[in-house]
Amino acid sequence: MYYQGTVYRPPSEADSILLQVTTGCSHNKCTFCGMYKGQRFTITSEEIVFADIDYAARHFPHARRLFLCDGDALILPQARLRAILERIQAILPRVSRVGIYANCKSLKTKTVADLEELRRLGLGIAYMGLESGDDQTLAAINKGATAADMIAMAGKARAAGIKLSVTVLLGVAGAERSLIHAEATGRVLSAIDPEYVGALSLMIEPETKLYADVQAGRFVVPGPLSILRELRAMIAATHLKNGLFHANHASNYLPVRAKLPDDKEATLELIDRALAGNLSLRPEFLRAL
Ligand code: SF4
Repeated sequence: MYYQGTVYRPPSEADSILLQVTTGCSHNKCTFCGMYKGQRFTITSEEIVFADIDYAARHFPHARRLFLCDGDALILPQARLRAILERIQAILPRVSRVGIYANCKSLKTKTVADLEELRRLGLGIAYMGLESGDDQTLAAINKGATAADMIAMAGKARAAGIKLSVTVLLGVAGAERSLIHAEATGRVLSAIDPEYVGALSLMIEPETKLYADVQAGRFVVPGPLSILRELRAMIAATHLKNGLFHANHASNYLPVRAKLPDDKEATLELIDRALAGNLSLRPEFLRAL
């Protein structure tokens, strides 16, 4: 299979065929993100992608899931995505769900009818980085979208019947705006009402704008207890009809897996126990992205 640079995929796509249909991220401006630094965004040629699908059909004929990499592969023109998904359906018939990274910019390029077409061709889930529901924070991290944009674009995917997994970033607003960020993010998550929420905790990556801000004292990373208070406030403000809220990524200090709304009270009590010092937190040296 053709792979260029580091290939990222969501943890839940660990068993999926990874098909690199683009390289890098077409936005590549978020101040905290070091994933594709120094990497130019390119679209993989159809010839290479089709050869990879043929390879996957020969070597992984029983695979049930496939993930389209890289950063925001949904930015591909509709005709290219259609051709890729049709090819997958034709020669990898056991693949029952295709996943993709999506951001506001790439969702803006698609109509609901486009997304419905992709869903009929097997696109089952989109992973979207919200990071924060606080407009001031979104502007500060250069996300390229407002909270209202996020709600509207996520709504298109929901209207098309594509499942959504939304990532939020604890700590990204800094120490001062921590609780404002938490509550605003809970409100936006409630408006989007995704099937899955994944909360990661900020880790400062070298060569990012945020790293320089931390070094210069312009940004203060909240400590572990502040991050926990932020998580608590975010979950308290998040009202999902039937969704999973996970904060069990290796970057998090306390693993949390909650089905909302059922597990909300128990989860808040769990966090309170940790805040009271009755549960141990993941030590800093074991945290990872
Ligand atoms: S849109 Fe995603 S991949 Fe691209 S720079 Fe922002 S966080 Fe990184």
